Formats: sequence, structure tokens, C-alpha cells
Amino acid sequence: MLIVQKYGGTSVANVERIRAVAERVVRTVREGNSVVVVVSAMAGETDKLIELAHQLSPSPGEREMDLLLSSGERVTCALTAMAIQALGEKAIALTGRQVGIITDRVHTKAKIEKISAERAKKALQEGYVVVVAGFQGITEDTGEVTTLGRGGSDLTAVAIASALGADLCEIYTDVEGVFTTDPNVVPEARKLEKISYEEMLELASSGAKVLQSRSVEFAMKYNVPLVVRSSFSDSPGTYVIKEDKEMENVLVSGVAYDKNQVKITILAVPDRPGIAARLFKSIADANIVVDMIVQNVSSDGKATDISFTVPRTDYEKAVKITRDIADELGARGVTVDDNIAKVSIVGVGMKTHSGVAAKMFETLARHGINIMMISTSEIKVSCVVDAKYTELAVRVLHDAFELAKEQ
Ligand code: ADP
Ligand code: ASP
Ligand code: MG
Repeated sequence: MLIVQKYGGTSVANVERIRAVAERVVRTVREGNSVVVVVSAMAGETDKLIELAHQLSPSPGEREMDLLLSSGERVTCALTAMAIQALGEKAIALTGRQVGIITDRVHTKAKIEKISAERAKKALQEGYVVVVAGFQGITEDTGEVTTLGRGGSDLTAVAIASALGADLCEIYTDVEGVFTTDPNVVPEARKLEKISYEEMLELASSGAKVLQSRSVEFAMKYNVPLVVRSSFSDSPGTYVIKEDKEMENVLVSGVAYDKNQVKITILAVPDRPGIAARLFKSIADANIVVDMIVQNVSSDGKATDISFTVPRTDYEKAVKITRDIADELGARGVTVDDNIAKVSIVGVGMKTHSGVAAKMFETLARHGINIMMISTSEIKVSCVVDAKYTELAVRVLHDAFELAKEQ
């Protein structure tokens, strides 16, 4: 079999952990498989680099930021290859550029456009373990270094698995698989044996960082067989697969939270066609992804408030754009609330069952948690609440939908 194994930050956090990774890789090779390894930077390293940049500049250049951040993965990539070589197997370390990952030009959150993977294919044929630095690529025309957004090594792994037609993509992390909610917040959370791509995508885009949402999107689109496992044990993990009939019987499969959003409100803008289009086009042009949007009905038919949420990392840019537009339109002003969290429940069973949203709202109300914004999809309900209630909200929802119990 051809297997892609991705190891996250905690799995390569120090020399002992890297040696343990190398041992697992070598074991997999000696069982008769070809192996591509994708590594993250050592745990905390990316945050440390961002912190360094901010000590020197209030708004560091994004091009230089990418050059800086890509270095973390290069370190673990080279060290992991050395550790495999020391155990007697052939290994070659490749950067994003060397493995042929071509992205668009959106620094710090670039999208993969194509992968040639020729060099990896050739090395595999020659009996090498190919070790790839995750989270990075280059632009096609000028060869600028780009990074793929936080958690982006998951995407590197899935994209390489797809390009090579791998039989399996294994994501090794610090928990035993995908749970009904973050097991570090709710110790009773239950590990799922399997989860559909759709549910995993909703959980990931609602903040469950166990998989990066774009990696799930990619895996779903190209049917990459995916499993999430622990690098600390041999437990079988969670398979992310196509939805099956059995899954529809489960009303809610998971609860997720996201503290990485900020709410922006533009006050008293004229209530006429084209206003929302003007605002959100400018924000989209700056490559900022807006998540929730609420527009209040104006009581006098003349002016209205619009609230929306953006990722914390983009909020300064988004506020500046919104302030400029508020001035241009003669709005009363712009307010920012960065003390919010989004709590979501996800389940394919919602397609065929009613009353799920009502139960969520009742549960939050019973615990005195006020809801500021609501959004829904076919298989998800999200509420924005005060950040101080995040853990409480996750726990009471996990309880209310009896997720700790075998379904
Ligand atoms: P890595 O560094 O291996 O990429 P991450 O920290 O990105 O690991 O993701 C693993 C973490 O995701 C876990 O430690 C856990 O706290 C968190 N997590 C959030 N939601 C879930 C969930 N539903 N199931 C499992 N882990 C979750
Ligand atoms: N090192 C990067 C991050 O911390 C990418 C990754 O770990 O997947 O976001
Ligand atoms: Mg991760």
C-alpha cells in the first residue's frame, strides 16, 4: 500500500517524539508499504515565530511572514528524515517547493492550485521514504513562498495523498481520533469510529481543529480515504468516509466551538438596495472570509444595523474597511466585539428530524446563556455567545444531546 502519514506539532515536539515518529514510519515500511511523511512544525513553534514578528513590527509584511513561518516545518522535515536514516531506511526531506506544491498568491492562507509530485513519485520508486515539510507551497510565476493557513499541514497531507493516488491518508495527532466534542474540554466526550465527510467539514469549519477544514473539503472532493489517529498509541482512530444510511439515525454527532472570531457591527446604515453588496464586496476583495451575518429590520424603514463575524487574524483589516465604508455611506459608526465565541451542533440526522435547533436554544437559555447571533445549514446550527460561556455551553449541549452515550 501507499500510505501518507501526517504528524502534527505535538507528535514532533522534541527529539524523543521525532524518534518515535521515525520508528512508526520504519515499522510501516517494513510491513511492506511505501510511505510519505508530512510533518508540522514542533508544537508552539509557529506561534513563537508569529510572536517574534510582532515584537518587531505591529503589522509584519505578509510575504516575509510566510518565509518566516515556513521555516518551522523545514526544521522538523529535515530532522525526521535524519531520524529515519539513522534507523537504517532511505529517506529524503523535501520542502513544499521541492515536492511541487503550487499555490495562489494569497499570503498566509494560500490555496493549492496544483501538485506535480514527480520528484516524490520517483523517490518512492527508488525505495525512499519521502518526508515533506507541511503547510507551505510556492507561487507558480515568481516562486514566492506561501503558507496554507493555520493547521495547513493537514491540507498538505491530503493533497499529496490525492496527487499520488495513495491508498490511505493517516493524520496522527495528540488525541485518539475525532470525538463528539473536544475531549480536552469535555472529558466524557466519546470517540467516533467513523464520521461522514460532510459532518467533519461542518465540525472543522465550526472550530474543531482536529482537522483543518480545507483539508476535509479537499478529501471530500477527491475521495481521499482519511483516518485520524493518535501518535501516542496503536488505537484504530476515526475513519472519515462517505455518509451511510446508519449515520442519518443520529440526530447530533458533535459539538464544536470557535473563539477565533470577532463581531463587527456597522450602525444605522441607509436601508436601501446595494448597501450589503458594497460592504461585503470590499471585504471579500481583501480576501477576508465573513462567517455569520445578521441584518436587523429597521423600525423606521430608513436605517439598519448590520453585524457580521470575521476571523480574529483579519479583524483589524476588516474594521478599517468597514470604517471607510461607514464614512462613505454616512452610517452612525462601527463597533467591535472581540469577546465572543461560536458554539455549533452538527449532525446529518438534522436533515430528517425537527426540533434540534429549538432544543439547542432551550438548553442555552436554561443555563442563562444569551444568544447574540444564529446561523444554520442543513446539518448545523451555530450560536454566537459571550466568550466566557464557551466551555459551559459546549458541556451542557453535549449533555442535552446525550453524546457521551453510545448511539
Ligand atoms: P496537531 O498539532 O496534531 O495538528 P491540533 O492541535 O491541530 O493537533 O488538533 C488536535 C486537537 O484538536 C486536540 O488536542 C483537541 O483538543 C482538539 N479538538 C477539538 N475538537 C475535537 C474533536 N471533536 N475531536 C478531537 N479533538 C478535537
Ligand atoms: N505549523 C502550522 C500551524 O501551527 C501548520 C500545522 O501545524 O498544520 O498552524
Ligand atoms: Mg492541526
